[in-house]
Amino acid sequence: MTTHTFCLAHFCEAHGPSTIMCTQAVAATAVRDSLLLPNANLQTCASCKLMLPDNAANMTTAAGSQSFLSQQYPTHPATFAGLKKVVMKSLSAETTTDSQPLMFGDAETGYSLVRIFRVRDPTARGAERKYALILNARGAAEQALMKLWDIVAESFNQLIEYFHDRALELEKVSADEHDGEIHNERFLRRSAVKPRSLVELMKDEKLFVKLHLWVCETLRDL
Ligand SMILES: [Zn+2]
Repeated sequence: MTTHTFCLAHFCEAHGPSTIMCTQAVAATAVRDSLLLPNANLQTCASCKLMLPDNAANMTTAAGSQSFLSQQYPTHPATFAGLKKVVMKSLSAETTTDSQPLMFGDAETGYSLVRIFRVRDPTARGAERKYALILNARGAAEQALMKLWDIVAESFNQLIEYFHDRALELEKVSADEHDGEIHNERFLRRSAVKPRSLVELMKDEKLFVKLHLWVCETLRDL
């Protein structure tokens, strides 16, 4: 059986390559019986944390006999180990191409389609934060994932466009607010580097709710 996991990951200055949100289809009974990976003991910070309204730890959306669950880590322990390697590889390596998905993996951990994107943040090292969108297919042959390339690439594209448009919109607002004020990021001291969530960067409390719903649509189409 193939397990598809959609994942948003990033490179955390404190925790290294980390997952922020992982979405998988789970049987409705697993949600009811809480057969989920406990998230409580794992390290997290503002930029790693899946920030949901009302401090919820996860989100589920039912679709027939299946439910889609999003939480900071994947539900299945086997996926957890495999995905960690994928996140490490996508974000540690000097990935030069941002415009196309990359594919890598092996039969054991499964194959992944990965797309890197960046969000400007003056308080981050290098004034930007680097994220990865990952679709991991465990238990499927490489060719099976190749067939999904177009659907996944399009979904990645639309998501990244959304993030970029939102960032531009916010930059315009902030430029208006600071009209006449001299703004130079180089004057920000090292101590100013701090973990920040995409929720804060995008000024959108419901960002991960939107992302979860979006991902559910994509996973449903696979
Ligand atoms: Zn962190």
